[in-house]
Amino acid sequence: MNPLIEVDVVVVGAGPAGCATATALAMEGRRVLVLEREKFPRYHIGESLIPFTYQPLERIGMIPKLKASHFTRKYSVQFVGPSGRASQPFYFYNRYDRETVAQTWQVLRSEFDLMMVENAREKGVEVREETEVLELLREDGAHVGVRARGADGVEFEVRAAVTVDATGREAIAATRNAWRRGDPKLNKVAVWTYYEGSKRDTGIDEGGTTVAFIPDKGWFWYIPQHGNRVSVGVVADGKYLTRDGLKDPEAIFQREIPQNKWIQDHLSTGKVCDEYWLTAEYTFRSEYCADRGLVLVGDSFGFLDPVFSSGLMIALKSGVAAADAIHAALAAGDVSAERFEGYGAMMRQSMENMRKLVYAFYDPNVSFKTVTDGRPELAADLTDCLSGDVGKDFSRMFAAFSEYTTLPAPLPYGVPRPSESSLVAA
Ligand SMILES: Cc1cc2nc3c(=O)[nH]c(=O)nc-3n(C[C@H](O)[C@H](O)[C@H](O)COP(=O)(O)OP(=O)(O)OC[C@H]3O[C@@H](n4cnc5c(N)ncnc54)[C@H](O)[C@@H]3O)c2cc1C
Repeated sequence: MNPLIEVDVVVVGAGPAGCATATALAMEGRRVLVLEREKFPRYHIGESLIPFTYQPLERIGMIPKLKASHFTRKYSVQFVGPSGRASQPFYFYNRYDRETVAQTWQVLRSEFDLMMVENAREKGVEVREETEVLELLREDGAHVGVRARGADGVEFEVRAAVTVDATGREAIAATRNAWRRGDPKLNKVAVWTYYEGSKRDTGIDEGGTTVAFIPDKGWFWYIPQHGNRVSVGVVADGKYLTRDGLKDPEAIFQREIPQNKWIQDHLSTGKVCDEYWLTAEYTFRSEYCADRGLVLVGDSFGFLDPVFSSGLMIALKSGVAAADAIHAALAAGDVSAERFEGYGAMMRQSMENMRKLVYAFYDPNVSFKTVTDGRPELAADLTDCLSGDVGKDFSRMFAAFSEYTTLPAPLPYGVPRPSESSLVAA
């Protein structure tokens, strides 16, 4: 066993949530160590940013790097029916400043995540790659750090006043403590790949995301990236996608293409340039957002169906919000779970607003166009929610949706785990 390492905060996972947390804390002068199992750059899905990633990215100094990058600029999202008819794109600049929030990016995650790690290092974070966290350490009911194995195969311990779980959908804390709670109605399957040379719209629409419906309320994403590549995937109920016993991801994907004429037409000039990927059972939330000395951020706190590309916004927003709460907790010398009440409430509100919209999307009785037609205030609400302004009160819009569907009650999960206060040396 290597000598013990002592830091203020140890972060498990160097994805966007982990890097955002670590960078914001380091910028406050905290000693932060990030442990990441993979060697970056590494592949990851989740490539479309939405406008409200802007504020957390700005906070940690990423905006100039993104502006200087080759990532495709994204100004809008549009919806396309199975017949191939496209809606008017929802342009974010109709609601927000065109030079800042309203312009976002379609990223290649291997490159974006590496930029986040390099940015974290520049701001003073130590990031150790190829280092797997094996165990979250607890003493007297409090989290006190982690046991990990480094690139050299040697195990070591890190002691920290706060441990941050940023392990993504692996969700080490929620999985090992049996805090993982599913959302059975959103139990979908996604199959995706990449095309080169498929059709792209022009001008300001070139980088827009298209959500293209297939019958039975499944959908394709079509995300134009730099280098003439397009990320394209299909999401639907597993039973539908695997009907007639189909199991092979390529066969599943290719069978769905003719189900949407726009997708069929756009892919007709391109060729597949990557493998086929598949994931299932992905919507869940952790029963708790924090324990004594432990905070959950990003997907490890909860993951929502990706139809509105909300994952990175939640990951980044939770990262900087958790960093603020941790910095204040360390300053107060109290890292009890209760300190993270406000953080958990913000996360629950953000996720519930998106979750209601996702439920409405999957209900065949709901049409966004019907609900917003002739009601500009609802079209504005919808653009705001699609942009990720999830701290806003959307009761007016959800009341309108409720005329067509039953929206879900909030999940009772995501609160701090009840515990006694703990004092640490400030
Ligand atoms: C099909 C699909 C499509 C999606 N599309 C979009 C989209 O268009 N836009 C969007 O915003 N989001 C999208 N998402 C969601 C997005 O991928 C996630 O929300 C985002 O990656 C969450 O970031 P994170 O930092 O929480 O987790 P991650 O990015 O998963 O990072 C977690 C990191 O932790 C590391 N790790 C895990 N366990 C350990 C361990 N024991 N020790 C050390 N390191 C560990 C992993 O290697 C990984 O690098 C999509 C998701 C899916 C499944």
